[in-house]
Amino acid sequence: MSTTHQWRGLIEEYRELLDIPAATPAITLGEGGTPLVHSEWLSGVTGGDVWIKVEGANPTGSFKDRGMTAAISVAVHEGAKACVCASTGNTSASMAAYAAKAGLTPIVLVPDGKISASKMAQALVHGAQVLRVRGNFDDCLKMSRGLAEHYPVALVNSVNPVRLEGQKTASFEVVDRLGDAPDFHLMPIGNAGNMSAYWLGYTQYLAAGKATRTPVMRAFQAEGAAPLVLGRPVEHPETRATAIRIGNPASWKLAEAAKAASGGRFKALSDDQILAAQAELARRDGIFVEPASAAGVAGLLADVAAGDSYAGKVTVITVTGHGLKDTVTALEYFGEVPDVVVDADIDAAAAAAGLI
Ligand SMILES: *Cc1c(COP(=O)(O)O)cnc(C)c1O
Repeated sequence: MSTTHQWRGLIEEYRELLDIPAATPAITLGEGGTPLVHSEWLSGVTGGDVWIKVEGANPTGSFKDRGMTAAISVAVHEGAKACVCASTGNTSASMAAYAAKAGLTPIVLVPDGKISASKMAQALVHGAQVLRVRGNFDDCLKMSRGLAEHYPVALVNSVNPVRLEGQKTASFEVVDRLGDAPDFHLMPIGNAGNMSAYWLGYTQYLAAGKATRTPVMRAFQAEGAAPLVLGRPVEHPETRATAIRIGNPASWKLAEAAKAASGGRFKALSDDQILAAQAELARRDGIFVEPASAAGVAGLLADVAAGDSYAGKVTVITVTGHGLKDTVTALEYFGEVPDVVVDADIDAAAAAAGLI
């Protein structure tokens, strides 16, 4: 019987490139190996080649699974029995799933009333102890750090460097697929762990001779939560793009370094720009992402409108999480859903669908 290659999860696919203890078991749900989809729409808009890295295709619906397989695997290796994270939703969904797989007790701290119902459902269904904190994400992160310091629980927020080890594999996949690093890499940025991880991956591949260059990194925030653009923390961050509703990024310094070393930049976008890009990406490219995830696409459109050229260049845009994570915001932006009811009759359906 012939065996075809089946993706084994990113730890087994890239183990020798990850800075984790050699005997770390792989706690995996098959994360990574996500689609890199060519966008005819955005390639047409820019006159270049634009590819979308679809991270919503990970097991719990966001790129957080990349960091989580690494963090939970190492936590298990170190003998942890419980794990904790602060979350705007996706980290907790991911941690809860990987903790369940590993047999650890997951403890989640979320800002009260600020996370989507789907993400809350994921954490609860996977068995997390969910504590809703009267405060914002930054308060939750401080508490997570404190709990990990004083109690026997593993902290798996992206301040845990092992998370970045897992997340950097997305860059490996991009280069493995395209044959080299792109000219530009665009993405949303919140706590800044992911941009830092991509940069780590690209520079590691360059050093290993697997790529001949590194891309210019451009990361995008929401106007109401744009500390990196403003150059100072934002005390009360606000945006519909809840996954990037961060006022004081944990990986601020790493992201600044990646920006500087790559000749990149940070830019802020309005919620309207972000939600419009989310809707257009779904209609034109068939890719449904959550609001925050569309920031890179919105950023490309804003850059082009401002006169920046991506012509003749290869651009990769990471879309970070699945659209099913927050259907409430998507439907609100969509507006009134047409309520078309027809008799059980083919001609009536054809007429209503505009075929005749
Ligand atoms: C976590 C997250 C982000 C932000 O990533 P950082 O590493 O915090 O910058 C963006 N989009 C989605 C969907 C996320 O879950």
